[in-house]
Amino acid sequence: SKYVYAFAEGNRDMKDLLGGKGANLAEMTNLGLPVPPGFTITTEACRVYLTDGHEPAELAAQVDEHLAALQDAMGKRLGDADDPLLVSVRSGAAASMPGMMETVLNVGLNDESVQGLARVADDERFAWDSYRRLIQMFGKTVLGVDGRHFDAAFDAVKQQRGTDSDLDLDAADLRAIVDAFKAVVTEHSGRQFPQDPREQLDLTVRAVFDSWNSPRAITYRRQEQIPPDLGTAVSVVAMVFGNLGPDSGTGVAFTRDPASGAQGIYGDYLANAQGEDVVAGIRNTLPLTELEQLDPESYRQLLEIMATLERHYRDLCDIEFTIERGRLWMLQTRVGKRTAAAAFVVACQLVDEGLIDLDEALRRVTGGQLAQLMFPWFDADAAKDPLTVGMNASPGAATGAAVFDSATAVARAAAGERVILVRRETNPDDLHGMIAAQGVLTSRGGRTSHAAVVARGMGTTCVCGAEALEVDETARRLTGPGGVEVVEGDMLSIDGSTGEVFLGEVPVVDSPVVEYFEGTLDPAAEDAGELVRAVHRIMTHADSRRRLAVRANADTGEDAARARRFGAQGIGLCRTEHMFLGDRRELVERVVLAETDDERGAALDELLPLQRSDFIELFTAMEGLPVTIRLLDPPLHEFLPDLTELSVRVAVAEERGEPDEKDVALLAAVRRLHEDNPMFGLRGVRLGIVVPGLFGMQVRAIAQAAAQLRRDGVDVQPEIMIPLVGAVQELQTVAEETNAVIADESRRSEVPLDALVGTMIELPRAALTAGQIAESAQFFSFGTNDLTQTTWGFSRDDVEGSFFSRYLERGIFGVSPFESIDTDGVGRLVRLAVEEGRATRPDLKLGICGEHGGDPDSVHFFHAAGLDYVSCSPFRIPVARLEAGRAAI
Ligand code: ADP
Ligand code: MG
Ligand code: MG
Repeated sequence: SKYVYAFAEGNRDMKDLLGGKGANLAEMTNLGLPVPPGFTITTEACRVYLTDGHEPAELAAQVDEHLAALQDAMGKRLGDADDPLLVSVRSGAAASMPGMMETVLNVGLNDESVQGLARVADDERFAWDSYRRLIQMFGKTVLGVDGRHFDAAFDAVKQQRGTDSDLDLDAADLRAIVDAFKAVVTEHSGRQFPQDPREQLDLTVRAVFDSWNSPRAITYRRQEQIPPDLGTAVSVVAMVFGNLGPDSGTGVAFTRDPASGAQGIYGDYLANAQGEDVVAGIRNTLPLTELEQLDPESYRQLLEIMATLERHYRDLCDIEFTIERGRLWMLQTRVGKRTAAAAFVVACQLVDEGLIDLDEALRRVTGGQLAQLMFPWFDADAAKDPLTVGMNASPGAATGAAVFDSATAVARAAAGERVILVRRETNPDDLHGMIAAQGVLTSRGGRTSHAAVVARGMGTTCVCGAEALEVDETARRLTGPGGVEVVEGDMLSIDGSTGEVFLGEVPVVDSPVVEYFEGTLDPAAEDAGELVRAVHRIMTHADSRRRLAVRANADTGEDAARARRFGAQGIGLCRTEHMFLGDRRELVERVVLAETDDERGAALDELLPLQRSDFIELFTAMEGLPVTIRLLDPPLHEFLPDLTELSVRVAVAEERGEPDEKDVALLAAVRRLHEDNPMFGLRGVRLGIVVPGLFGMQVRAIAQAAAQLRRDGVDVQPEIMIPLVGAVQELQTVAEETNAVIADESRRSEVPLDALVGTMIELPRAALTAGQIAESAQFFSFGTNDLTQTTWGFSRDDVEGSFFSRYLERGIFGVSPFESIDTDGVGRLVRLAVEEGRATRPDLKLGICGEHGGDPDSVHFFHAAGLDYVSCSPFRIPVARLEAGRAAI
């Protein structure tokens, strides 16, 4: 097997084998850019090492060979006493895992070669500085010495010299530090710092392999859903030195502003420093533009290289570079991470520059990014200098008073205050507080922690794992970087899209993207802004590409109208139960409590005109588009008083000797209707069959509303949907009644009426017998919330706050099956029902109306499964449109 590739042998498509860093170093080498020579040991070698416990037998010889070639190219030998070649040994996996694994610089220095380096560079201080860096990095990474021992030794010398800046130390001081560091290594690792350069190299390669399984790398992979067995590649790169005096330096840059997408020079530069200093923030960096004064030639060359990279990668790139005595070297590049706004803007800029087409632009943005852009934002001018940045667990911009326990959150929120619940971690006991709070902030735990999972499920803003914050729940305060204290009641602002945490109340502004979708901001207007223009352009393209229609889940005329502005092509789910609450609850009580058909009929007669006007409102808002109305679904007791409260009331009244007849009857009914598992009880189609006239009244209201509007020339397209069907016989029973009522209303009103009659597929049995059910259904709508609950056998309301975060941490789920459809299990039922349903009835209309309708990954699945439409909440419609477009290209 070939385990080692020279840079010239690789390219950017070899990420799996060479890691992102190695593949892109190879790509830049082959583009003719100034990359120091080197080679990459493959991820395959790492996998063998991790499985077998030792390197593959061929590895040593292959490294020898490539090292020899590298030495020839450089005209130097590794660790040579007179003129040493030094190398960096760099980790780099296929998926970016920033800062999770190790890199060691200056490998090849020892007590002799440090002298040679000093002579060749004519800089004694530089040589000793490089050597102490090697011992420090090697000691920590390879020998596992706690970094604090080195820091202490360093500080001791600084103190002796009466300074706190590294720059004040001279060669002699650094030499003293080297001695001290060697002593630290001997004391804490039980061995001496190895003087043999090749031994240094081999041990470092092995340590980089091992860093794949460091605890933080494992945690990170779990959170980001990176498979655990890919391994890391190791790139060995000839060292170039940014710490060789004022005409040397090191920097990082983006080819465009990764925050806004604006073109220009964005980066930081640090003169007389090695790479890790820029990242570590040890000294203040200069804006990259100042390099133009310092070294105009290198600056010009850098701009040229950035343009080359953008043209070549056809995307925004980020880079690491070093200047050694006026000579520019490229050390890393990759397609750069960017904000949601920049993703849209940059994609359109690249289209205008002729680098990509609109399909590619559509591929480069995601529904998740669009969703982020639709939340209110913090005013960019006010949201500066975050206290710290944690993980962006659930998007949104939230401000409120800091509270440190759930009870206080609930109490303050009840008093009308906005609060941010701050916890070290949350647990199921915090649920009430999380519901009451504007946002949730934790100092521990990642994207699969309890706080993150539950907040995402509720749509509450959440920043988690802000580790720089010390949360003291008993003292009700948090301590931030620099000793900043926040006590209960102090205002905090958190940005769930970026993970930023701000002190005080940062003003929130409406998203211009929402104004655009609402139709109040014209993308063609002069001041619409580049972002809105870009969103408009990409949305238009997505709409032209998608096959899936997008409908809304909406129950009121107002929601329907909004959904329509957002691009809904109809209503996929109107839940009629919402129409039975409030004032109408009493009528429902009468339906339930009725002892005779007449009594029940009278109550239903009173409900009829109310329902009719509900539907008139909805049909009017959706004129010309299909409206799917689901007949009553929830268990009846939801409309009746709480059992315990009512029992107490009745008991108290009896005690007083003044029993209330009505309450007594009500109590009996509530008892009769009580169910241990209402979710599996008398609901949906079962209600329609058991309570005579209930569904009939709803269908009559629909038919009358349709007749009235049609007579006025309004185009109405009702679709009547029967919930919770498990057997075709249930559907037949209800469908017969439904069709009879429609025919009756059509006769009475003398208006021809046709309504599709269909069913939800939300029980496994319905999916499994879809071929039979399709005989009585003109359409199916997959109720993926219930289908997920019934397929897995767990209730969403109970499990998300309890064991889900554990399951996610353990990797039992990659993502909650309520968030993204479980394609293997629930998805299989969907595919089966689609296939067998269509086999019975080729023109069967197919849609989905669960929460999954607005989830990006699920939309791709429904596209592939061959559905006709997805239906989701009005606010998710643009996301569904975008993803339906992306699924189709
Ligand atoms: P990370 O993946 O954490 O960015 P890198 O492998 O990129 O780690 O290296 C850390 C720092 O060391 C970077 O700033 C990089 O530019 C610098 N560096 C790596 N190799 C060399 C080299 N051969 N010469 C000079 N600097 C280097
Ligand atoms: Mg790097
Ligand atoms: Mg349901």
